[in-house]
Amino acid sequence: MDTVALASQPHEISDCIVIGGGPAGLTAAIYLGRFLRKCMVIDAGGGRARSIPRSHNLPGFPEGIGGAELLAGMTRQAETYGAIVRHGTVDRLALTEDGFSVGLGASMLAARTVVMATGVFNHRPIMPDKMHDDALARALLRYCPICDGFEAKGMKIAVLGCDRHGAAEAEFLRPYSAQITLLAQRSPDLEWPDEVRLNQSGIETIKDAVNDICVDGNQIVVRLRGGRELSFDTLYPALGSTPQAQLATGIGADVNDLGCILTDAHQQTSVPGLYAVGDVVEGLDQISVATGQAAKAATAIHNLLRERAQRFATAHAASSSQSTRPPEAARRRLHLKT
Ligand SMILES: Cc1cc2nc3c(=O)[nH]c(=O)nc-3n(C[C@H](O)[C@H](O)[C@H](O)COP(=O)(O)OP(=O)(O)OC[C@H]3O[C@@H](n4cnc5c(N)ncnc54)[C@H](O)[C@@H]3O)c2cc1C
Repeated sequence: MDTVALASQPHEISDCIVIGGGPAGLTAAIYLGRFLRKCMVIDAGGGRARSIPRSHNLPGFPEGIGGAELLAGMTRQAETYGAIVRHGTVDRLALTEDGFSVGLGASMLAARTVVMATGVFNHRPIMPDKMHDDALARALLRYCPICDGFEAKGMKIAVLGCDRHGAAEAEFLRPYSAQITLLAQRSPDLEWPDEVRLNQSGIETIKDAVNDICVDGNQIVVRLRGGRELSFDTLYPALGSTPQAQLATGIGADVNDLGCILTDAHQQTSVPGLYAVGDVVEGLDQISVATGQAAKAATAIHNLLRERAQRFATAHAASSSQSTRPPEAARRRLHLKT
């Protein structure tokens, strides 16, 4: 993937700049390219989809598919239809007369519309980055019970996050395994009814906070503050996430109390011409949902730009017919003649 040219390109106006090249952003680009729209995707790399070792719930991939392979295919598909996909981090977004200016370091790009497809950042357990990424690649760490609870069937599972959110994840996983333990990263914050329910469903709750987490062979090993050591086949951090919404909120887009960008039914935010799709929008945080939202946003953008072009053509035709209209006296003469 090329990096965005550093020179400023003020005369090049894209129909749409998509910020984020995960499944959501790339689907928007595939649709916009096929609508013959001039579209650029700018992607910082990383992202949640890229970290998927193998996804088994995507329709059409009965043997599953890795996140990186999926993104490579989607990038090629978007480029086939003329979308430009570039590596870079957008650090500025502003409103202009024509739409938006999108800034990356010294570069400044212009777009009639913008799609925010920037995803969320998962809060991680305290462990070195490399160990974290290796454990994720080997599915010793997992972030999405909806995605891969099935693959964890019968395993000894830990859920890290001893609060309402962690309790909900542990209960979601319960049908897949009889050995589920809820751990606390810091002090536990469980309400009494949650504790009773967990107990009734046979989920063990450990209140001694976690001191550190490491990998030992095929196990994930958790050391508690009191010195006890526990090992698991897999661990789900349930520590919440932060939506990457700052660029949108900076120009006035509304968010909910979790920081997810709010949109209408066509994925348009409270800022006209600014759309948001994928995990950064409140929803099920799944690839199928992200691609569905992107299809809706791209079609709405295409229709919006068609309507604008039609309005412009009508206004232009009216003003040019007025300017070619003969002056009043001449019109009267013409009228007298007929
Ligand atoms: C371990 C794991 C396994 C999962 N397994 C599955 C599964 O099996 N099935 C499933 O449906 N879902 C799965 N998910 C969820 C899935 O990954 C997400 O729902 C999906 O990736 C959302 O797509 P997205 O495009 O919104 O976000 P992402 O895939 O996170 O992509 C966002 C992109 O935006 C870029 N970006 C952010 N800010 C900027 C910026 N300022 N400038 C430029 N680029 C920027 C990021 O670099 C990133 O590339 C899994 C998630 C995880 C973490």
